[in-house]
Amino acid sequence: MTSTIKKEQRFTGKAKTVYATNEDDKLIMHFRNDTSAFDGEKIEQLERKGMVNNYFNAFIMQKLESAGIATHFEELISDVESVVKNLDMLPIECVVRNIAAGSLVKRLGIEDGINLNPPTFEFFLKNDALHDPMINDSHIIAFKWATEDEIEQMKVLTLKVNEVLKALFADAGMLLVDYKLEYGRYKGKLILGDEFSPDGCRLWDAESREKLDKDRFRQGLGGVVEAYEEVAHRLGVNLPS
Ligand code: C5P
Repeated sequence: MTSTIKKEQRFTGKAKTVYATNEDDKLIMHFRNDTSAFDGEKIEQLERKGMVNNYFNAFIMQKLESAGIATHFEELISDVESVVKNLDMLPIECVVRNIAAGSLVKRLGIEDGINLNPPTFEFFLKNDALHDPMINDSHIIAFKWATEDEIEQMKVLTLKVNEVLKALFADAGMLLVDYKLEYGRYKGKLILGDEFSPDGCRLWDAESREKLDKDRFRQGLGGVVEAYEEVAHRLGVNLPS
């Protein structure tokens, strides 16, 4: 049983609410059912999604910890809440792509679905009002969003996550197409924060290439939470019935 006590709300994101706790270095992350796309223009409540993502995120973060990647995850405390370390988040999104899809295809006119080997790595600024523009190392340094050393660590860690998760999903019959990670500072170290769930990555069935991620919501394909549950089931994540 956790000794962490939930206090006032600190931050409300599009799919999660973050609460302060009785311990300064810990927060509680509440995964809501809200599902959003297109910088919050499309929002719906999807029954069970918060619960599925909470368990899914815990499972992935524990796999990453076992592979030697430090994360903010501490423990699950309810179906929709986890205790995490209180990071000082960098305003940066790190995206790795193994297969061309989404904004890469639109931006560069690349054919959808082609393999990217080596995978691409991109930085985006976390800013909804500006539609999360793509940025590069020199912007990050010039505007002091992170240090040279942190830039290097974000690249190394995000690509290490790729090796661990590509294999994990492949073993369960899925392709890890792309994903977004965010990092924060904690006691002098840079560690993985935010979440890893089908809300922030693309996953395709390895045979049929059926979409099993938030593109089902973005593209109005239906069966969004059913797809997330299918991914969880294939990985062996224990979800309450
Ligand atoms: O839209 P784009 O193709 O750049 O997205 C790349 C990956 O990053 C996708 O898996 C998408 O779900 C994720 N992403 C995200 N949050 C954002 C932008 C992208 O989770 N704000």
